[in-house]
Amino acid sequence: AGNLYHALLRAAAGAGDRLFLDTGDARSIAYSELDRRVAAVASALLAAGIKPGDRVAAQVEKSPEAVLLYLASLRTGAIFLPLNSAYTTAEIKGFVDDSEPALLVCDPKDEAACQGLAPALLTLGADGGGSLMAAATSDAPAVADRDAEDLAAILYTSGTTGRSKGAMISHRALGENARALVDLWRWTTDDILAHALPINHVHGLFVGLHLPLLTGSTIRFLPRFDADAVIAALDGATAMMGVPTFYTRLLDSPGFTRELAGNMRIFISGSAPLLPQTFAAFAERTGHAILERYGMTEAGMIASNPYDGERLAGTVGYPLPETEARIGGGGAGPGVLEIRGPGLFSGYWRMPEKTAEEHTADGWFITGDVATIAEDGRISIVGRAKDLIIAGGYNIYPREIELLIDAVPGVAESAVIGVPHPDLGEAVVAVVTTQPGAALSEESVRDAIAPSLARFKQPRRVLIVPSLPRNAMGKVEKARLRAEHAALFR
Ligand code: ATP
Ligand code: MG
Repeated sequence: AGNLYHALLRAAAGAGDRLFLDTGDARSIAYSELDRRVAAVASALLAAGIKPGDRVAAQVEKSPEAVLLYLASLRTGAIFLPLNSAYTTAEIKGFVDDSEPALLVCDPKDEAACQGLAPALLTLGADGGGSLMAAATSDAPAVADRDAEDLAAILYTSGTTGRSKGAMISHRALGENARALVDLWRWTTDDILAHALPINHVHGLFVGLHLPLLTGSTIRFLPRFDADAVIAALDGATAMMGVPTFYTRLLDSPGFTRELAGNMRIFISGSAPLLPQTFAAFAERTGHAILERYGMTEAGMIASNPYDGERLAGTVGYPLPETEARIGGGGAGPGVLEIRGPGLFSGYWRMPEKTAEEHTADGWFITGDVATIAEDGRISIVGRAKDLIIAGGYNIYPREIELLIDAVPGVAESAVIGVPHPDLGEAVVAVVTTQPGAALSEESVRDAIAPSLARFKQPRRVLIVPSLPRNAMGKVEKARLRAEHAALFR
């Protein structure tokens, strides 16, 4: 009864011939056939020797069959371990050595390179081809018994601040988090979600699939973010989930109009901070206030702006029901956010010391994000503890400076980092991209923000660059920027 699969498939029984995944072609999957299709893939997993508790690692392109693979892993009682398709074979080897899956599912083009990495190897292509689907039979093995505390998945963190860690996530944590979000965001059977997120991460895999499954509603399933395809999918849809770059790219498209968003009831953003300018431009274009929420691999969704109340740009709203948040050390100003609640992970895979390190003595999880909590409980993420700059003995939060720079006319976006400096220890450096046609210089940016910033926070250098390095989840890779500019003051 503890197997999340039961909860996820419950609504399918009442969904009639409604589509679960709408791909716009013959690969769509209806709720009425969902369990049968999942069971067929489960039979392939059993034939590959998978038993409850085994890890099933998958580095595959986003496809309807990849969704079936995830659900089949749950159904079999295995632990699903999705790997970013951007990782190289050498990186995959590292993750596989760490997680020791019983089965690795890879793209057919990587079959030779992945040979021998795991006891069993199957392939799944973006088109659904490969040995996994070929091994599916019409057997319908029973849904494996699982305790709610058993692991459903191990997801590696995005590696934004350092080495990725495997977060162990239980059936219970996934179920609790998804049910809370259905209530909070008022998800119903009638929703139609435009889904353009990758499915190897909490956002696209858990939030993006579980809410529709729990309510028996439809997903317009897109292989990736493509502005024109998303614009087409939004026509008649009711909901979208995205990372901030999705929204800036939509705003860059003249085809993205107020009329198009006419049927939409909710645009959700997360995984990285949404710029207040994006929030404002989006509201002006569409009349919609983007609902920003905050989460992480280790905790699922933690906080969300309200559905009915005011959605405030630059804040991530209130903790989810039954989730508690506090600022570590109890100080009044910004500090590291600590949380407690039902959506939390069960620890880092094979890193008991790291797990202990990231929890307080009284059992709260230390997020590593620096935040403030307002009187009324509203949370604002100020930055990451690891991005904190200590210059000449002063603590400086890059986000404060980034917000000012981003508001300078002609600036597209910015990242503020600390770079080794002989006198100060670290010096503040701003890396800035400009809007097309804007004539900005180091001096003009510095002059524009100088009146609003204490002297010690002002960037020593402003570097104008063509683009900021981002990882697969749209997060700016500050570690890479710091390494790139490490010699600036030497
Ligand atoms: P790693 O832990 O490996 O360094 P990561 O923290 O980026 O990588 P994820 O778990 O994918 O890996 O991302 C969670 C982080 O994303 C959060 O800790 C937070 O810093 C950031 N984040 C998510 N949503 C928001 C948001 N709405 N605003 C600001 N930051 C956000
Ligand atoms: Mg993290």
